[in-house]
Amino acid sequence: MKLEEKLQNVATSSYVMDEKKLRENLEVLKMVQDKTGCHILLAQKAFSMFYFYPMIGKYLKGATASGIFEAKLAHEFMKDKENHIFSPAYKEKDFAEIVEICDHIIFNSFNQWEKYKDIALAKGKECGIRINPECSTQEGHDIYDPCAKGSRLGVTLDNFEPEKLEGLKGLHFHTLCEQNSDDLKTTLDAIEAKFGKYLYDLKWLNFGGGHHITREDYDIELLINCINHMKEKYDLEIYLEPGEAVALNAGYLVSEVLELIHNDIDIAILDTSAACHMPDVLEMPYRPNVINSGKPNEKAYTYRFGGPTCLAGDIIGEYSFDKPLKVGDKIIFCDMAIYSMVKNNTFNGMPLPDIAVLHEDDTIEVVKSFGYEDFKMRLS
Ligand SMILES: *Cc1c(COP(=O)(O)O)cnc(C)c1O
Repeated sequence: MKLEEKLQNVATSSYVMDEKKLRENLEVLKMVQDKTGCHILLAQKAFSMFYFYPMIGKYLKGATASGIFEAKLAHEFMKDKENHIFSPAYKEKDFAEIVEICDHIIFNSFNQWEKYKDIALAKGKECGIRINPECSTQEGHDIYDPCAKGSRLGVTLDNFEPEKLEGLKGLHFHTLCEQNSDDLKTTLDAIEAKFGKYLYDLKWLNFGGGHHITREDYDIELLINCINHMKEKYDLEIYLEPGEAVALNAGYLVSEVLELIHNDIDIAILDTSAACHMPDVLEMPYRPNVINSGKPNEKAYTYRFGGPTCLAGDIIGEYSFDKPLKVGDKIIFCDMAIYSMVKNNTFNGMPLPDIAVLHEDDTIEVVKSFGYEDFKMRLS
C-alpha cells in the first residue's frame, strides 16, 4: 500500500511517526555501536517522543538532555539507560536534581565545573568540559554553528585551563549540523592538534551531534574509522549524541487543504502552519518535501502553501501537482519527526497537531491529541 493510502484516514493535522523507518534508523546506529564499541545517545532536543523511548533504549545506550526537563523525561521513560546532560550554565536549584538522575554532566566553562565539582564528584558523577575547537565546517548557518566568532558554546584553547582538569573524565564537542563524516574528520584533526595532549589522561570523548548517519549518502566507514582512531590512539571511550539521525525521515505531518485562493499565483491555505507546527521551515529556513509533489512548475499545477495564521510570512513553500488541488485534499509533509513536535507552539491560538504512530503492521494509533486546554494551560 502506498503511504498516502495508509494515511488516508488520519485526522488533520497530525504528526505521524513511521515506526518501521525509526527502527531502520536505530538498526544503522546500533550497527555503528556494535562495530566500534562506541556509545550512541538520543539527543532529546531533536526528538522527545517518549512513547518510543523504550524502543530506542533497546538499540541505543541512552539519551542526552539540554536541561533538567529533558533529563527527567529520559530518567522516567528510558529507565536504566545512560542519562547525560549539557547546559551552557546550570541553575543551582536544578543541579541538586541533576546530580541525582544524570550519569554524565558536561560543563560549558571551567567556572561552572569549579562551582559544581564537589557535589557532582561526591555523587560519583562523570564530568566533562565542552570544548570549542574553533573549526567551522558549515557555511551560511551561523545560528547552527557553535564555532562561529563570539560563540558562547565550548571552551576555546585560549581559555582552556589544564590545571583545572583534575577530576574531569572527558571532553565534549558539538560543532556539526546535518553533516557527513568528512567534516567530522576535519573537526577531529583540529581537536587533536589543539587538545590532543590532554586526551591521553581522559576516559572519554563525546563527539556531540549533527552526524547525519542515517542519511543515504552518509559515509559510515569513515565514521567508524574516526571513532576507532580516537579510541585506539588515546585509549578513550567514544560517545555520539545524534538527534536528527535517530528519527530522520521517520515522520510526517498530515494536513488538509482548507481553501484555495488566487493572487497572481494559486495559493492553498492548509490547516497546518509553518510558524506553529514546523518552525524550522522559517527558522532554518528550508522547504519540506511533500508526497506526490514537484518543484514549482515542474508539474502542471503549482501552489504556494500557507498556514491558517495571520502572519504574512507563514508560508511553507511552493509545490506543483499533476492534478489541480481541491478543498479537503490531504497534504503530507515529509521528515517531520525531528525538530517539529519539540518546537511547536500555539501562536494565534492554533491547535497542536495530534501525535500518531504508523505501526509496522500498517495500523495507525493516535497516542496523544490536544485541544483548547493545551492552549489555555500555558497562559493566565
Ligand atoms: C543539538 C545537539 C545535539 C543533537 O544534534 P543533531 O543535529 O540533532 O544531531 C547533540 N548534542 C548537543 C550538545 C546539541 O546541542
